[in-house]
Amino acid sequence: MHIQHLKLTNYRNIARADIEFSPEVNVLLGQNAQGKTNVMEAAYVLGMAKSHRTPRDKELIKWDETYAKIEGDIVKKNSSLSMRLVISEQGKKARLNQLEQKKLSMYLGALNVVMFAPEDLHLVKGSPQVRRRFLDMEIGQVSPMYMHHLSTYVKVLKQRNQLLKNMQRKKQDPVMLDVLTEQLADTAATLTSKRFSFLALLQQWAAPIHAGITEQHEALRVAYKPSLDVSANEDLSTLVKKYLEKFQAIREKEIERGSTLIGPHRDDLLFYVNEKEVQTYGSQGQQRTTALSLKLAELELIRHEVGEYPVLLLDDVLSELDNSRQTHLLNTIQGKVQTFVTTTNVDGIEHDTIQKAAMFSVRHGD
Ligand code: ATP
Ligand code: MG
Repeated sequence: MHIQHLKLTNYRNIARADIEFSPEVNVLLGQNAQGKTNVMEAAYVLGMAKSHRTPRDKELIKWDETYAKIEGDIVKKNSSLSMRLVISEQGKKARLNQLEQKKLSMYLGALNVVMFAPEDLHLVKGSPQVRRRFLDMEIGQVSPMYMHHLSTYVKVLKQRNQLLKNMQRKKQDPVMLDVLTEQLADTAATLTSKRFSFLALLQQWAAPIHAGITEQHEALRVAYKPSLDVSANEDLSTLVKKYLEKFQAIREKEIERGSTLIGPHRDDLLFYVNEKEVQTYGSQGQQRTTALSLKLAELELIRHEVGEYPVLLLDDVLSELDNSRQTHLLNTIQGKVQTFVTTTNVDGIEHDTIQKAAMFSVRHGD
């Protein structure tokens, strides 16, 4: 699939833009702070209905304006589609082919985008939060229902934490805790089970890609590290039961701390190269290659699940990769994946994919 046409109104520093893109590689060229990342972010938001940079939608609206609008014409293998997302103080309104979508989960999934930004290079070494975010966003791409469960989880978790804090100060009746714990255990089990099965799938694609990029054909393995002792083959009802048992066992401790101590918000990912943990033992280069393999795996996974390659957004990352990794990345996408690349100059990038790409210069949000 590709974005044929993108129209922006009051999006960050861009008052108005109306751009036709190439189905292959598009280079957004410009000095710092001109709006390159903003254009790329808009493409991401069009597909994901949220930014990769901020959880606060309000920041996407141009200063002193009341709304931001992103419109896109998407070309797919067998159809075309017009998408529109309006962000205002009142929330988000999404349309597909002029039809208002009452639920965002009906809108999500129409345009698949994969973002690869410098933060992703910190996937391995960064905080667990970075890895959880990676996982959530990636699963959300192929399963809009996952996003729905995730937002339920976040809501219940917040209420439960508040309740535990109140109980800590003896200001609240404990009956409510059982109700919220049950709700939390249900969604926690759903998220955990989805994460396990998604990772198994990602691993299938990532391992051969990683072996192909590395000279010694290194074996990459990705594992889920849950905060509760459970394994990948447990069914949903067993997971719920185990969560409930554990919550019962740590009840006093949770009240004492005033916070929920186990669940998907405390889980993590582990990466192994040749069965050694990359986070602890991997070189800088191995960590970057791991991140690159995972992103490339995601392209293949989405193609497998959705039937088409997603749109790839490379924000400032080409210049962060050395020559051989750059070449590998560009060879992989060549002629198959619509790609957006931001850079301040193309001189350092020799690959003919970039030399032949469509160039757009971005200046002061124009
Ligand atoms: P770099 O090369 O440094 O990454 P860039 O071209 O990617 O630069 P952007 O991140 O796209 O730059 O930001 C461009 C400008 O947009 C920034 O100067 C920022 O102050 C401005 N900006 C961000 N949010 C808003 C907003 N809501 N309204 C108006 N301007 C904004
Ligand atoms: Mg930028």
